[in-house]
Amino acid sequence: MPETIRHFSYIIGMETLDQLKKLSTVQLSSKYRHDISVRNIIDEFTYFLSDAPMGQRIYHFKHDINSVQKCPYCERQRKYVKGVNYYITCCSKECKRKENSKANKLS
Ligand SMILES: [Zn+2]
Repeated sequence: MPETIRHFSYIIGMETLDQLKKLSTVQLSSKYRHDISVRNIIDEFTYFLSDAPMGQRIYHFKHDINSVQKCPYCERQRKYVKGVNYYITCCSKECKRKENSKANKLS
């Protein structure tokens, strides 16, 4: 269990934490906006994301992803699309080209 989660489970209880994760993204978004304690938990869980939008933070929280998702071709963050997921790469032209040429080789 990651250190941050262990820390929160002391504060709000593991059950509450599990219940929060089972909520839909829409429900969590609503709580994030209106419930300061939920916002604090999610913000702290995603402290490593600087300036990330709410949806991205909730995605990390729900899926227990406690690190920055890095592009496999450069050191930048993979591109996140609201309501979707992460792209494989950071979506720079260069990295997209590399990913496409890899996909072409495989097929
Ligand atoms: Zn990249």
